[in-house]
Amino acid sequence: MSALEARLVAWGAKPSHAARLLRSFYAGNGTLDLTALRLPQGLRAQLEAELPGPAAELACRQVADDGTTKLLLRLADGRTVESVLMPDYRGERVAGCLSSQVGCAMGCDFCATTKTGFERHLTAAEMVEQFLALRREAAALGRRLQTIVFMGMGEPLLNLDHVLAAVERLADNRLGALGWRQITVSTVGIVPGIEALTATGWNIHLAVSLHAPDDATRQRLLPMGRRYAIDDILAAADRFQARRGRPVIIQYCLLRGVNDAPEQAQLLADLLASRRMHVNLLHYNATGLGLRGAEYAPTPPEEAERFAAILRQRGVVAHFRRSRGPEIDAACGQLRRRFAEAETAAAAH
Ligand code: SF4
Repeated sequence: MSALEARLVAWGAKPSHAARLLRSFYAGNGTLDLTALRLPQGLRAQLEAELPGPAAELACRQVADDGTTKLLLRLADGRTVESVLMPDYRGERVAGCLSSQVGCAMGCDFCATTKTGFERHLTAAEMVEQFLALRREAAALGRRLQTIVFMGMGEPLLNLDHVLAAVERLADNRLGALGWRQITVSTVGIVPGIEALTATGWNIHLAVSLHAPDDATRQRLLPMGRRYAIDDILAAADRFQARRGRPVIIQYCLLRGVNDAPEQAQLLADLLASRRMHVNLLHYNATGLGLRGAEYAPTPPEEAERFAAILRQRGVVAHFRRSRGPEIDAACGQLRRRFAEAETAAAAH
């Protein structure tokens, strides 16, 4: 029995009302029209009196020239998380990016989120609230939220139970109504988490943030690389791909002079040429100095093209992922950091 069903029974109502309430909540993108539901009078009054408020509310919104919309949501405990809506190449569609944790413990050197450290895991409800907030935004633009990726703040596979519970709700026909294939979970390469995702048997996508073709470079950028070697991560990704039958996505953020040399493209091709994995090449959005003082810069376009060309010549499918709204703090964690700074400054006056 679900928590909502148990609550209804405790109020002396039929548990079967739970399914209708949930359907209506999701269909209303997070709002519940109790009058339209024609519930027994006593139950309606009880719901009006006792239903908890939303798990997250909008604190701030930024819209970029390309239509990318970044939402900062304030959670019930006052903490904030970011969610992003990204226009699709098809005008009527948009893609959404959800956070899975408040802050992040992974310490990736070029990421703004990790600079404020890890605060806590998000609950499944808080991830669903992000999804519903993005769907409200999309509806207001006359568009359909078509795909979701767990690639915002946090490492989803270190909050696996809540992420899986959220995915289940998003993919439920009666609730989020996304297809499994419209959902992607992204990881820095937590091997046991990839294995657990494989074991679900779900037909979702997996994205792995590799960002370097050798362990030494990767460990400089991603401390978690010291725990899991590239070979072990790709072996786990192989098993996911073999079981699910769909290409794993390899994320590779090009950083000038760090991981973008032609020899590094060759090394990446060595790793991937015999695999059917697809490479997403990302443009770096500057976030200031790295945690260990390094200053990162994006790879110039012609060098990025040369990197991609080497991969393609070696038979690796490689695409550039468009840079999203750089003028609106679109790199993960930036909006949240600036909002916190502004709030602190306001409080000091
Ligand atoms: S890139 Fe992702 S995993 Fe790495 S620190 Fe940032 S939020 Fe965490």
